[in-house]
Amino acid sequence: MSQPVLQIENLQTHFFTDRGQVPAVDGVSITVHKGEVVGIVGESGCGKSVTSLSIMKLVPNPPGKIVGGAIRFKGEDLVLASEKRMREIRGNEIAMIFQEPMTSLNPVFTIGDQIGEAIRLHTKTSKKEARQKSIEMLKKVGIPRAEAIVDEYPHQLSGGMRQRVMIAMAMACNPELLIADEPTTALDVTIQAQILDLMRQLNQEADTAVLLITHDLGVVAQMCHRVVVMYAGNVIEEGDVRTILKNPKHPYTIGLLNSLPKLEESQERLYSIPGNVPIPGSLTAGCRFAPRCEQAMDRCRQEMPELIPVEENHRSRCWLSI
Ligand code: SF4
Repeated sequence: MSQPVLQIENLQTHFFTDRGQVPAVDGVSITVHKGEVVGIVGESGCGKSVTSLSIMKLVPNPPGKIVGGAIRFKGEDLVLASEKRMREIRGNEIAMIFQEPMTSLNPVFTIGDQIGEAIRLHTKTSKKEARQKSIEMLKKVGIPRAEAIVDEYPHQLSGGMRQRVMIAMAMACNPELLIADEPTTALDVTIQAQILDLMRQLNQEADTAVLLITHDLGVVAQMCHRVVVMYAGNVIEEGDVRTILKNPKHPYTIGLLNSLPKLEESQERLYSIPGNVPIPGSLTAGCRFAPRCEQAMDRCRQEMPELIPVEENHRSRCWLSI
């Protein structure tokens, strides 16, 4: 397999609050290779978004801080990188799209200014050429009336159109890694499918590696080669998508899959995993899922399991996987 584009090793990102130190990301390791689409899934508060913000060094400090581990991007440890270097990397070598594109688009500049700036940062291009290229990019991501939209402002577009603009900007920069954090959560199902198609196109045409953060296993099934399941700041299961969807081993992953609606069965009520995600900072010894796990044993409450190999390219953090 090719050299990893991204190698996160034992990442620890903590928040320092009035109520103490909260380990939002607590020893996470994830590898993404060139051309690979890796999904991070889990419920709200599992640490998946803090992991993605840590890669970009965008965790608000204070109260957040990377306190341990390494984030190697093409071998360079971003934890040690200066803010100047991170500004070169963001939106250039690593692009990021969020659930709400308005957080990244500047409301006072036109769409053409913003895509054009991304192009000009990257290549020696005149303003006129950058505008023309912006129109081409808008057409490429399926925006109608591209010649007019290029002179409009973000607030004049719908959520789906704004997300297309973000993907156009990402494509213009030809990044080696795209981090997409819940990019389709706020969109209608049909628009969601179109945005996923565009991301797939970026991945396949330019061999861009994609780290896709989502709570939606349906999106993972459609898009990803590999999946990492997170719970309470830890990776609890990882493997290739088909294996995890067909043969999940960790009781939490099994619960997530059981809570999806099934077309072939009539279900009066959808299954939901009992209990709630632990409040960050309230973690005790042992397996973090034990308070919600129907199969918990005494050992589970005393010792936290490591990620245990189940089969080739499949690991699970559960004592039942031994
Ligand atoms: Fe459940 Fe124990 Fe496995 Fe944790 S280690 S998921 S508590 S069986």
